[in-house]
Amino acid sequence: MNEEVTPLVVKDLHKSFKQGNQDVEILKGITFSAKKGEFIAIMGPSGSGKSTLLHVIAGLTGMNSGTLTINDENIVSLSDAQLTALRRRKVGFIFQSFNLIPTLNVEDNILLPVLTDGQKPDMKRLQFLVERLGIADKMKRRPTSLSGGEQQRVAIARALLPSPAIILADEPTGSLDTVSGQKLCQLLSSLCKEDNCTLLMVTHEPSVAIWTDRTLVLRDGILLDELSHKNIANAHELAAAYQDLLSLGTTEA
Ligand code: ADP
Ligand code: MG
Repeated sequence: MNEEVTPLVVKDLHKSFKQGNQDVEILKGITFSAKKGEFIAIMGPSGSGKSTLLHVIAGLTGMNSGTLTINDENIVSLSDAQLTALRRRKVGFIFQSFNLIPTLNVEDNILLPVLTDGQKPDMKRLQFLVERLGIADKMKRRPTSLSGGEQQRVAIARALLPSPAIILADEPTGSLDTVSGQKLCQLLSSLCKEDNCTLLMVTHEPSVAIWTDRTLVLRDGILLDELSHKNIANAHELAAAYQDLLSLGTTEA
């Protein structure tokens, strides 16, 4: 039988940063997992550790303790080279600020991670993605000549090109106006669904989070709880449930 791999398992993850002479614990034992094709929103107040959590999962920063399994591979047991390859091929990252290289044109920006990995880019998939994202006519342009929404579409094509198992998106619509943000999220969601890709997205907006399967709520480096969207009808109800959970967390702390 062909057993399905679990894209992401996070167990008791701890992360601290040196601030001055002190180690400050930012993630205080985070545990959750994501199934294949699942969409998860992460919400929480500013400074609660949302970006740090995504950075640790993506390997952009290390962790102090805990276990992290990506596509059934325990990343602690891998060599640096294996780790880099796993991350390049299995994890895509979308930043709030796009992180495009200004001196490269759009096409080269999208191809860069695959080429850096020594792989032959799938040009058919590239064409498919840029058409779906509505940037096919922008391939030779520099990113700085594009609108914010267009730049984020380029970043999405770059993240999706290697067909990763997981997409990590850190407030992907945070730099965009509400309408373009919503449209872009819809597009990202449908592209991920078509690929059966797992999407983990930090967002401040209940109207975006409501499209996912569930919302993890983070406060002060702890996962307070998760909101299943099964019993939540709309963004208003989600916002209310989120606020309730946060105030509950405060009372208990
Ligand atoms: P969020 O994304 O939820 O707003 P972050 O994960 O960015 O929160 O930050 C959580 C906390 O970790 C903040 O107090 C921030 O100052 C601290 N922090 C983040 N990155 C670093 C770093 N590289 N060095 C020291 N402290 C950091
Ligand atoms: Mg953040």
